[in-house]
Amino acid sequence: MIRGNLKMPDVELAKKQGEDLLKTRVFAVRQSFSYEETAYHLPISYALTGVPVHDRKAALDVYSRTGRNPLVASESILADMTAVSGKEPAPYTGFISDTVIRKLGYSLVDGSILGLALVVGTPQNAGMAAAVCRELQEKYMLTFLAGKVIPALSGAGVRLGLEYRLIPLGSTPFYGVHFVDIIARVAMMFGGVPPGDTHRLLTYAAERARAIVIVFPGLTDEEIALVDGMRVLGFPILTPGGYQGGSWIQAGPEDIVRKGMEEKGIRVNVTAIPIPMGCSPAFEGKSIRKEEMYVEFGGGRSPAFELLRMRMPDEIRDGQVTVIGPEIGTMKEGSANPLGIIIEVAGRTMKKDYEPVLERRIHNFVNYGEGSWHVAQRDLIWVRISKEAVAKGVRIEHIGKLLASKFRMDFPQLIDAVSVTLITDREKVLAAKKEAEEVYDERDARIKGMRDQDVDTYYSCTLCQTFAPNHVCVITPERPALCGAISWLDGKIAFEMSPAGANQPVEKGAALNVRNGEFDGVNRFIKKASHGEIERCSLYSVMEYPMTCCGCFEAIALMLPEVNGIMVVNREFKGLTPSGMTFSTLAGTIGGGAQTPGFAGISKSYILSDRFLQGEGGIERLVWMPSQLKDELKDRLTKKLAEKGLAGLFEKIADETTAATIEDLAAFLERVQHPALAMKPLV
Ligand code: SF4
Repeated sequence: MIRGNLKMPDVELAKKQGEDLLKTRVFAVRQSFSYEETAYHLPISYALTGVPVHDRKAALDVYSRTGRNPLVASESILADMTAVSGKEPAPYTGFISDTVIRKLGYSLVDGSILGLALVVGTPQNAGMAAAVCRELQEKYMLTFLAGKVIPALSGAGVRLGLEYRLIPLGSTPFYGVHFVDIIARVAMMFGGVPPGDTHRLLTYAAERARAIVIVFPGLTDEEIALVDGMRVLGFPILTPGGYQGGSWIQAGPEDIVRKGMEEKGIRVNVTAIPIPMGCSPAFEGKSIRKEEMYVEFGGGRSPAFELLRMRMPDEIRDGQVTVIGPEIGTMKEGSANPLGIIIEVAGRTMKKDYEPVLERRIHNFVNYGEGSWHVAQRDLIWVRISKEAVAKGVRIEHIGKLLASKFRMDFPQLIDAVSVTLITDREKVLAAKKEAEEVYDERDARIKGMRDQDVDTYYSCTLCQTFAPNHVCVITPERPALCGAISWLDGKIAFEMSPAGANQPVEKGAALNVRNGEFDGVNRFIKKASHGEIERCSLYSVMEYPMTCCGCFEAIALMLPEVNGIMVVNREFKGLTPSGMTFSTLAGTIGGGAQTPGFAGISKSYILSDRFLQGEGGIERLVWMPSQLKDELKDRLTKKLAEKGLAGLFEKIADETTAATIEDLAAFLERVQHPALAMKPLV
């Protein structure tokens, strides 16, 4: 065996010796082994031959049927090793489950992952490995790692994990075999390749799998044989030195990624944005915890909002970024500051109708920044900038540059000019926020009057799957998205603008339960879009199969069985609710893409809809809301209640001033004779 980089191994020679060693080891595999998290048995063997391998006999049979393929041998040996010794401890992932692959498949289709890379071996220095991996992240590649490159990256402070698109498979390059079993499953799951159709598998891998392999030194002969075996799948094998001979491509560390991607025909439309932090979807799933944060904006701690407006081309200067008010340098570490984000766009094909759909992309783009984080929408946004980013020189201005560049890059067909204004002066934020609220109201009014029964098609939104992988919003005319930022009309427009995007038409199909709003077409859609996790969804019920929740909801509706009613708490309310929990505790309990009967994430405007709480008997179930939310909705809600013959109900809805605890609430409802008390029991 050859290890280390004292001597440059000859790839051809090492490969031959490695294949012999693999043969010896595959004949020594024990009696039975399998991976729990897959329906594809040993996926490489299954894809190549159609034989489900779970024991020594089948492993040897497949090994000989595939002409002693080193990938097949390595797969059986690794499965056997895992069965005997168990999975390696964290951070290593080992075998990746089918569920994770299904989620990744969506990103491969929508272009947010451009290709896959495997990086194995022992880098000569950690800084070089970190630079290669950063370039892969910035070029929208999903990277798998195996061997000593993993501790080298961790030692250099590189964050690893699926959320960073750097997945540490295992402690030795041998674990690189999981990279191939992932591609075999992608071919069977998404590529329509039937198990056992070797020709179609190889064609799929060569033509459709956008995969490259980067090899640092330090591989054993067996590992060289395994990696070289990947050439049969059409993956270019690149090495920054340390090997000679064979068909491996030599490339310097500075251009190894570019060369590999070119070799595989992976075209990147990503131009580096000149700001002092990385910018890529690879960073979108990260969070910035309180102790990691330098400053924050909004989130109920300071006024903040975001707004995107269309302008005439001569009204804006393309690329202009203006900061009005204090910059980060004068903000106290750990402080909450006001922020207004105003994006103005112009373009020949741009339409006013597109404004809210584009505005929602601010959320994604800010999260692309390695040290910036964004949740929620409109005047509920919450933005953080990390200490690490500020130490590297990131300023408010750079968030503006990031936004201006991303809007130009991602919507070239729509946008010819973008200018960004970031306001941090408190008075000016408050004044501009008032104007923004008028725009939000105008947008909400456009959809008024449309009813769910008037349309056969609803629209989905899966933008938040980066945070909540199984979450799917279904948006109907009478049930706006739970973030309050996307109406049915916006979903329709977004689909027109980008037919392969995150908003897809949902044929509602036959009604299964009219009262709860359960439709067979919606169920079919949800099952697929939630990667098989959610089977049923009631559009109008909190209690039975409610919609999943990401983390962006404007408010939470939850049952209070003690008083036979439903309360609503909005994001801005910081106190305890009669449920004994604050909004943030509740949000932590129900977010992440889960379906939690008894709880639903909702938009504030949904409270005014005729479909609100329909499954629970109607708005007569509403027993408690924070006083600030009551005030905000007062005019519209009293009018709505009067139309429904429920005049007087508004005063019967308690708030924190009339009922702080569940006992207070029970007494209050009794006193005002709230109709919920006489309704059918909730549970
Ligand atoms: S909350 Fe729903 S509608 Fe809003 S951005 Fe997220 S997935 Fe889309």
